[in-house]
Amino acid sequence: MPTFLPRKRFGQHFLQDKQVVLQIIHAISPSSNYNFVEIGPGKGALTFELLKHVEHLSIIELDRDLVSGFEPHRANYPHLTIYSADALKFNYLQLMNGQPLHIVGNLPYNISTPLIFHLLNFIAHVGKMTFMLQREVVDRMVASPNSRSYGRLSVILQYAFQVQKLFDVPPEAFYPPPKVESSIVQLIPHSVIPVQVTNFKVFNQIVSQAFSQRRKTLRNTLKHWLTVDEMESIEIDPLKRAETLNLEAFAKLANLFTENHIHAETELSAD
Ligand code: SAM
Repeated sequence: MPTFLPRKRFGQHFLQDKQVVLQIIHAISPSSNYNFVEIGPGKGALTFELLKHVEHLSIIELDRDLVSGFEPHRANYPHLTIYSADALKFNYLQLMNGQPLHIVGNLPYNISTPLIFHLLNFIAHVGKMTFMLQREVVDRMVASPNSRSYGRLSVILQYAFQVQKLFDVPPEAFYPPPKVESSIVQLIPHSVIPVQVTNFKVFNQIVSQAFSQRRKTLRNTLKHWLTVDEMESIEIDPLKRAETLNLEAFAKLANLFTENHIHAETELSAD
């Protein structure tokens, strides 16, 4: 690929440490059981390694100059499909081939949270996701109640996935080096959802609302949703703060609101 100046607006930090690339490939553990998709392949640090191991790989890249860098490789890699597209708006259903998706990527940090929420819409078709993210975001994903990192991302993702932090990657592994540390995280949709949620949209909104002002009590943050009496009826102390509640408690609050105020809807959707 010709000399290419990394573009800040696309969150471009290219992996340049071969050992780290191999460690990530090992974590992905490519096998024929999955339909592989890479988001943001950049200059191909992970892509060309993956292509050695998988039966088919789809790549989705927003930067057209980087997309054109893959064009000359089409002939050598008939099992590569290139999408010049925005992963945030992409309809992943078009990739379905009967196998579950394994979505991987060294993600642009500025879009990682909205992207993961967009991918929640396709969870029924996802087998696994393996991502490199800012370490602080991964710490939030795996956080437990009563810790500083615990928040909306922890609750929503742990409801939908088994979330596992695999290892850290230092800034020197990239060009240009980012200002933050990075980590590899793996998300596997639960085969059995850990708590029953009757309406995912309500659950998502209540969790967001409860964490919107971390220092305030539930009585305050959820006052437009549930009364003190309603909270007490399910044995949730309205004087508690969101950061002390586990997944089950949030599910109880959301299910009570759904039961008392709207018709139940069972579909899991992140909209
Ligand atoms: N995978 C490469 C590597 O490890 O060297 C590049 C990683 S770089 C952190 C992120 C990549 O995502 C860049 O290639 C960037 O152009 C691409 N990107 C940024 N926003 C995107 C979007 N919305 N959809 C798809 N790709 C995007």
